[in-house]
Formats: sequence, C-alpha cells, structure tokens
Amino acid sequence: MKFKLTRKQKKMLRRIIIAAVLLAVFMVIDHIFELPWPLELALFLIPYLVSGYDVLKTAFINLIHGQFFDEKFLMMIATVGAFGTGEYPEASAVMLFYQVGELFQSIAVGRSRKSIAKLMDIRPDTANVIRDGEKITVSPEEVNVGETIVINPGEKIPLDGVVLEGESTVNQAPLTGESVPVNKGISDTVISGTINLTGVISVRTTSSFGESTVSKILELVQNASDKKAKVENFITKFARWYTPCVVIGAILLAIIPPVFTGITNWDVWSTWLNRACIFLVVSCPCALVVSVPLSFFGGIGGASKEGILIKGAGYMEVLSKVDTVVFDKTGTLTEGVFAVDDIHPNIVSKAELLDIAAACESFSSHPVAQSIVRAHEGHIAKDDVRNVSEIAGKGVKAEVRGEVYYCGNGQLMDMCGATWHDCHLTGTIIHIAKQTPSGFEYLGHIVINDQIKEDAASSIQDLMSLGVKRLIMLTGDKEKVAKSVAEKIGLTGYFAELLPADKVDRVEELLDAHSGSLAFVGDGINDAPVLMRADCGIAMGAMGSDAAIESADVVLMDDKPSKIAKAIKISRKTMRIVWENIVFALGVKIVILVLGALGIANMWLAVFGDVGVLIIAVINAMRCMRKID
Ligand code: ADP
Ligand code: MG
Repeated sequence: MKFKLTRKQKKMLRRIIIAAVLLAVFMVIDHIFELPWPLELALFLIPYLVSGYDVLKTAFINLIHGQFFDEKFLMMIATVGAFGTGEYPEASAVMLFYQVGELFQSIAVGRSRKSIAKLMDIRPDTANVIRDGEKITVSPEEVNVGETIVINPGEKIPLDGVVLEGESTVNQAPLTGESVPVNKGISDTVISGTINLTGVISVRTTSSFGESTVSKILELVQNASDKKAKVENFITKFARWYTPCVVIGAILLAIIPPVFTGITNWDVWSTWLNRACIFLVVSCPCALVVSVPLSFFGGIGGASKEGILIKGAGYMEVLSKVDTVVFDKTGTLTEGVFAVDDIHPNIVSKAELLDIAAACESFSSHPVAQSIVRAHEGHIAKDDVRNVSEIAGKGVKAEVRGEVYYCGNGQLMDMCGATWHDCHLTGTIIHIAKQTPSGFEYLGHIVINDQIKEDAASSIQDLMSLGVKRLIMLTGDKEKVAKSVAEKIGLTGYFAELLPADKVDRVEELLDAHSGSLAFVGDGINDAPVLMRADCGIAMGAMGSDAAIESADVVLMDDKPSKIAKAIKISRKTMRIVWENIVFALGVKIVILVLGALGIANMWLAVFGDVGVLIIAVINAMRCMRKID
C-alpha cells in the first residue's frame, strides 16, 4: 500500500513521532532513576501536550458550547483522570494512541474517497467541437445536441453520440470494468466517459452534457451515500446511547464503590477513579461509527470498478439477502438482437410485408422493432409514417402512406379483431394487419429469433450456487419461446404472454409468497414499473439508457447476466465485513468494560479497546474495496 499523506496528515504524523520518542525515552529514564512524582508528572506532560494539545483545545471549546459527550472531551477527562491517579505514562500514551487512531482514520477515509474519485475520473474535461468549419476546444457543458465533435486517440469521449466519420476502438472499462476494447465505426453509438483509443472519430452528439451517461453516473455515485443501510442507521442511533451510558457507568464506578465500602482514603478513591478512566477511554464508539459507512463506501466503490453501480448502502443490504431473482427475457437473458428467420405473407408479397412492418416499426426502440428495420435494408421516408403509437407488450399501431396497420403479437391481433393464425416455426412471431372499412385484414407474419446470451446459463448456475432459490423469467413473448429459453438455461420457472402490468402483478405475488428479498432484472425497456416494484431493481445494459439508470436501484453497465451474481457476492462480502466489525468492536469493548470494572484491565488494554479496535475495524473495512472473482 502506498500512501500520499496530505500536509495536515504529515504534520500530525510528525507530532506523533516526536511524542512517541519522548514518551519512550522518558519511560526508560523513569524506570532507571525512579524519579520523584512531580518531576515524573512534568516529564510525561511534555509528550502528552505535544501529541494532544489540539484535542484539549477542541475539548475546551466544545465544553463551552455544552457538548459533554464529544469524544475529545472524553479523552481529556480520561487522560486528566489518569494523571490524577498517578498513571503518568499511561495518560500520555492514551493521548498518543488516540491521535494515531485519528490519523489512521483520516488516511482510510481519504483513500476510499480517492477510489470513488478514480471513478470520477470518467468526467471529461474538454470537447473539440466543430463550429463554422473550425475545431475549437470548449468544456463539454457548452456543446449542444446535434453538434459535431472530434475525438482524438487517447481522449475521453465527452458526450453521448453517433459516429459520423472514422473508425476506432474504444475502451469502455471505466464504465463496464470490461477491459476488452470495442470497435466503433460509422453510425455506431459511443458513450461519454469511455476512452477513444486508436483512431480519430467525428461524432454527432445526441445528448447535452447534463443528460449524458457520464453525468448520470457521476450523480448517482455521489448520491450513493445518502441512501443509508438499516445497520448504518442502527449504529448511528446506538452510538448516541452508548457513549452517555458508558460515561454514566464511569461516574457511578468512581463514586459508588468507595462510598458504599465506607473506606475513603485516597488509595481506594484512586483505584476506582482509575477504573472509571478505563471506561471513558473505551466509551468512544468511533470504531463502529467510522468503519460501517466506510465498509459500504468501499463496497460501492469496489462494485463500480466492475461496472456495477449500487445506488446506496440500503440496496447493498437488500441485495445480500436476495433469494428470488426474476428476469425479463428480451435483452436480459437473450441478446435482444433478433434476426428475421422467415417472412410469411398472406395477400401481399414478402418484400411488401417487410416494407410495411419496417415502416410501422421505424419509430420504436424495442429490440423487435429494430431487428425488423435492420432486415429491411431499404430507405423509409419518415414522412410516410404517421400517428405511431406503441402498445406496450403487444406491438405498434401506425399509419403508413395513409393506411392504418397493426404490427405485433397475437394479442395485438385479437385486440384489433383480425383473423390471424399462428406459425409452425418456433420463434417470436410478429403479425401485421391492415385496417379496411370492414375491419382488419391479416397480411401475414414475420418470424424472428433471438439468441440466448452466452453467459446466461452459467449465470443461473452461479446464482443457484449462491443459494438463490427461485429464478423466474417473465416475458411478453409466446409460451413456446419462453419454455424453450427457460429449459435451455435452467430456470426454475417462467411466465409467458404477459403485458407490462401483468409483470408487476406476478412480481407482487412472488413478493407476498416468500420472506427473502426479490430482485428484478430488466433492460429498462418498458419494464420500469417492475424495476421500481421489486425489493431491488437491477437494470442491465444501462450504458446509454437513461430510463434504466433512473428507475433501477442497481445498474449494470454492460449486458452480462453474470454481473448479477457478482453484485450479490460483493454485497454479501460487504455485509459480512460490516457485521464482523460490529461484533468485534462491541465484543472487545464489552469485555474491557467488564474487566475494567473488576480491576483486571489496565489503561493499556483500554487503549487497545479504543484505538486498536478502531484500526483493526478500519483495515477490515478497507477490504470491501478489493476486487473479488
Ligand atoms: P419481453 O417481456 O420479452 O421483454 P416485451 O414485453 O417488451 O417483451 O414485449 C412482448 C411481446 O410484445 C414481444 O415478444 C412482441 O411479440 C410484442 N412487441 C412488443 N413491442 C413490439 C414492437 N415494437 N413491435 C412488434 N411487436 C412488439
Ligand atoms: Mg423487455
């Protein structure tokens, strides 16, 4: 581990070293010469003040403002108490180690902030925009939608857009964690925040900087710490009670035993005062207050390196408890890139049927629509197509060259009342019907097929081995297609021919039927309502899709279902570390409190109970940032 300390941290470190050396030297001198107490006191006050003068100052200021349970105030009381009872080296050491803990904590927080800041590195600084035939460099905020920008090799792509000219490879690792570069050529989309590697490309921007993928992600990561986990809230509340309770315990411990035993000589008082000081030293809950949020922060940071954006610690908690994963089919388990397999016209010719279908679909962003448009190849005049309306989960209705058509699945045909028939081929069947004065006339259908994602089956295996019990697919597609996909990848169940609203109903039924958390995974295309309804909505393939980034709780930047298992693993690891720290810190503190009350623990152990525990908990929390496989 390499640290770069800030100036303040360096100053602090210097003071700690000086104080430590002085303390050690004085302890040796004291041991050899058995100094008289006033001299001893004077000597040990030096390292005490060197390491802790600022603590004392802050404590005084806080005291004036009436803050009694402030940790610095407690440190002051504890150390002054230790001096009072003749434990000079101990008193000095408590302050020294307290400062070591403070320094450590500030380094750890800085480091994890830096790991998030590294992610922030995706923020582009400049854009080269072409204006009046000249290339000028401006800040990305100043570029308008539809302008042309030029990106040189090695530069960050500042805005989302479509390539107009040139060819290049792009490193999308900053967003997806995937280190294999992707090729980009004319009319491919490029995403802001990724890095152009090899060629010069001109890009027509499709979003303003504020609306770009990079801005959305940055905003999301910055706000991640707002959505607190339940444990985090618990710790905050707990800390508010813990400290006053221990302080009251310390006061009682100092007063009650000597008063009750009736022995009031100085030795007895000093023994109990000393034990009370031990209480005060372990009264600081900072090990918990610091390490729990730090763990979540680290976990969220570590996940983002993998292209997994978790919108808050709360979702991390939910994700770790997932026992049901519900998938959308198209674009989630399958590529969402359909290939047209066959065209079966009824009255018209094949070419005519495809032409009509492509025209109807030319405004839709649905994977089905895009595949038909792609298969069409020819040009579709935008003016030919009017009054397009999408019927979610069914298809589209459009007016093409003055005629009204419905283009979609069997349900859509039933809706318009066309007499249609199914196809003998397996696949997604898109039917087309034309409006006539006497109703809708069936024109035929197009058979399209989608491919199951390469890692779909293995992802299902991974999820099962993580103990996820229910793996269920929901789809608007036909029963036959759904069954074949579900069997091929080994799902535990599926529901077919669902409209978006039916999907919400199914998820609600599943939510009612079990106790663990339910995650829904979709691609953000017409499944936003389900994403929001699930305990944890996971959107995949979010690069460039605003809808997915906004409505989901967890965003997977690329399209890989394998990232779901990874996200669960990361969240479980984070939760485990959080609980390790809670149990460890509280356990040690309670043991020391008990031993302290019984007179078995000394001040050195108390220092361990405070600073030692803090340091160990923080080191443990830092593990959350590390990659897992
Ligand atoms: P999934 O649940 O698989 O993601 P959707 O709910 O998006 O699917 O769509 C369900 C079905 O509705 C599709 O299989 C298709 O038959 C039909 N459909 C949806 N949108 C369109 C469209 N734009 N054009 C034609 N058919 C569509
Ligand atoms: Mg879908």
